[in-house]
Amino acid sequence: MKKITKLAILFALFFGTLFAWELENVGSFKFEKMNGNVWVMHGPATEPNKANGGFMNNPAFIEGEKGLIVIDPGGNYWVGKHVLEEIEKVSSKPIVAVLNTHKHGDHWFGNIAIAEKYPDIPIYAHPKMIEEVKAGEAEKWYGIIGRLTGNMKGTKPFRYPDHTLVDGQKITIDGQSFEIRHPKEAAHTDTDILIEHRNSDTLFLGDNVMKNRLGGFDESSSILGNIALLESIMQDRERKLYVPGHGPSGGKDETVGPFLRYLKTLKKWAQKAYDDDEEYYAYKEKATAELGPIAWWDAYGHQMGKHLNKVYREIEEKDME
Ligand SMILES: [Zn+2]
Repeated sequence: MKKITKLAILFALFFGTLFAWELENVGSFKFEKMNGNVWVMHGPATEPNKANGGFMNNPAFIEGEKGLIVIDPGGNYWVGKHVLEEIEKVSSKPIVAVLNTHKHGDHWFGNIAIAEKYPDIPIYAHPKMIEEVKAGEAEKWYGIIGRLTGNMKGTKPFRYPDHTLVDGQKITIDGQSFEIRHPKEAAHTDTDILIEHRNSDTLFLGDNVMKNRLGGFDESSSILGNIALLESIMQDRERKLYVPGHGPSGGKDETVGPFLRYLKTLKKWAQKAYDDDEEYYAYKEKATAELGPIAWWDAYGHQMGKHLNKVYREIEEKDME
């Protein structure tokens, strides 16, 4: 091999890790400037596994005048440390606040790594999230992610959010103004906040939108509520950028559209099964055919049937009211 080629390879390897987080067999991850002063590092659109080590969400930060505001720093201490490292590659400003979108540990367990460096940092979330994670949700998620990744070292003791954000609240942090929305009816969970960053006109959707992968709908969620929320977002004016909890960010139609279509297709066929006095899965194949490329999303095989069952039960419950 020519000396110059060797040098070029060494150079690429060195600067590769210098400018991005290289995750073996998964990919290369770094914060990208998406919209004005909004940066997002899009995680792998998969469920937690050994390869991704618990990194699958979309950590983000907003660059303020003097500091940085971080949203959802990831699923364990290890992810949080890498998030911090990647942030420091693109900005030398200190982190001044953290916001958590909802109770699922894949979004907020990384708080502990941020708080290790900034012990007094305020961490914001909906009061219901704080209440529920302390009442067992954190332990439940520690078990789930731990079992699938074996990568929870340093994640406990949990760093819970300690500041509250409620529906309609407006808050300014370091010159950056945010407006909070908390769906009255449950959507992805009963603890979600959607974060609108006014300065850049960006909407952080949390897990109310996913793209290229599916995730669970837990007992606190409502698929019908999620549909109602996304329909109201579709009717609302177009923001410059939409950031989902998992999968790529983009404009409204390309980001919110596919997940809404997924949920509405499930609702349509569950409703038909219910009206026809059939089991919830009676039209599962018809729904899959109608969903086209969405049926190739990660985790579709084992999540779609569960979602169909859940929306069927919700339709049934509504009918009993
Ligand atoms: Zn979630």
